[in-house]
Amino acid sequence: MFCDMIDQIIDFNKSFVAQKGYEKYLTSKYPDKKLAVLSCMDTRLTELLPAALGLKNGDAKIIKNAGGLVISAFDSAMRSLIVAIYELGVQEIMVVAHSHCGACHMSYDHFHHEMIARGVTDETLDTIRKCGIDLDQWLEGFKDTPTSVRKTVETIKTHPLVPKDIVVRGFIIDSETGELNEIYIDYKLHKISKNGKYGFADNKGVEVIPCKWNEVKNYIEGLAPVKDSKGTWGFIDTKGFIVVPCEWKSTEHFHNGFAPVMNINNKWGFVNAKGDLICPCKWKYTGFFYEGMASVQNEDEQWGAINQIGHEIVPCKWREMGDFVDGLAFVQNMNEKYGYIDKTGTLIIPCIWKTAHDFSEGLSYVKDEKGNKGFINKQGSMIIRCDWKSVYSFHEGLACVEDNNGNWGYIDKTGCLTIPCKWKTANSFKDGAAIVCDETGRYGFIDNTGKVIISCIWRQVTEFNNGIAGVMNDLCKWHHIDKAGRVLD
Ligand SMILES: [Zn+2]
Repeated sequence: MFCDMIDQIIDFNKSFVAQKGYEKYLTSKYPDKKLAVLSCMDTRLTELLPAALGLKNGDAKIIKNAGGLVISAFDSAMRSLIVAIYELGVQEIMVVAHSHCGACHMSYDHFHHEMIARGVTDETLDTIRKCGIDLDQWLEGFKDTPTSVRKTVETIKTHPLVPKDIVVRGFIIDSETGELNEIYIDYKLHKISKNGKYGFADNKGVEVIPCKWNEVKNYIEGLAPVKDSKGTWGFIDTKGFIVVPCEWKSTEHFHNGFAPVMNINNKWGFVNAKGDLICPCKWKYTGFFYEGMASVQNEDEQWGAINQIGHEIVPCKWREMGDFVDGLAFVQNMNEKYGYIDKTGTLIIPCIWKTAHDFSEGLSYVKDEKGNKGFINKQGSMIIRCDWKSVYSFHEGLACVEDNNGNWGYIDKTGCLTIPCKWKTANSFKDGAAIVCDETGRYGFIDNTGKVIISCIWRQVTEFNNGIAGVMNDLCKWHHIDKAGRVLD
């Protein structure tokens, strides 16, 4: 087969220039946003990412690699970010991973097989290893997207060359709908280092956990992974007491009371918050516990799920598997079709969908082979057929939808457009309010009837939490407001 994709691009380029296709990109009325976005090279994001983030030509520096990760403090992605900060004036950095990422469960074993098949010799691989390159680590994917986003955000935030006033936030974008979900990072105790050892300080900079560890990771659910002088990992509580003894080659963080741990044979199991091994280390990869179940991958790279005493309840036979939400998890069969199973592993909704998401409020957005889109209920019937350009999940009875003109509104659970598409961007409802952005590019809030409760005058806002939201004014100063729009501080 003759590959001429690049030749085709060269031809296209000639006519693009001749027909002045560049003209609409020349003068952008939008200001430079002083923003850098680190994301994945996945082709589904080529147009979706800038569109879903509302980025135009000239707005942001976009850095891409496999997975959207910073692998080490001095890798090429980090170098680009440093250039973006010092040379191009970037003040805010978004790390944007995405759902169903191909870099997620990559393994060196797979690459090794392919490389040998394509003519790379074992001698070459040996030579590379002898030069000190750890190919396993270099080509390894990540097990869990939120964790990998947290790690990348942490590496950037704590980088010795990154100024303290640079804002770094982590997100996962839905590869299908473009919905952006922020990854919460708890910074009540900050990692600090002294004489090459690590500990934690509080918000005032007071050393709370003495710097005596070879490495530490941030506190989640009140427990932080620490590496001792022997190079093995355990967990300490916020007082510094050892809860899980340091005897693991690697660990992930706690989630819903359990943390994955890896033994010297590179196999994963789970410990609870008392340090008991509730599931022996025998899995190639694991997810985290949701609704009492955790997904696990066996040696044949097939996924299933275990319960909280480590029993394999859902047999490992799926190509991909989601977390349990409202009793159901999506699964992908070997023909790459999605369906849903319950907690006994029974297939409740057959594998007929081309894409699937987590259920939210009893409905999930799916797409079939013919491109038909809509929401299915937990019996698998499509109860809302809709052909919106994009949609988000249901929250508080409403789902955001985008019309073909790029304007956003909301539908109810009958599929009826109850809030007309007139917003430049719209977010899911929380606490009875949703963030919207009007054509001026400013943010405000509407209630579930579509009535504006906080006018679109703010440069940035956060969701309402217990009746309080954060808002940023034109001077980049943050304040808190209540639902009446009163500025509280
Ligand atoms: Zn990806």
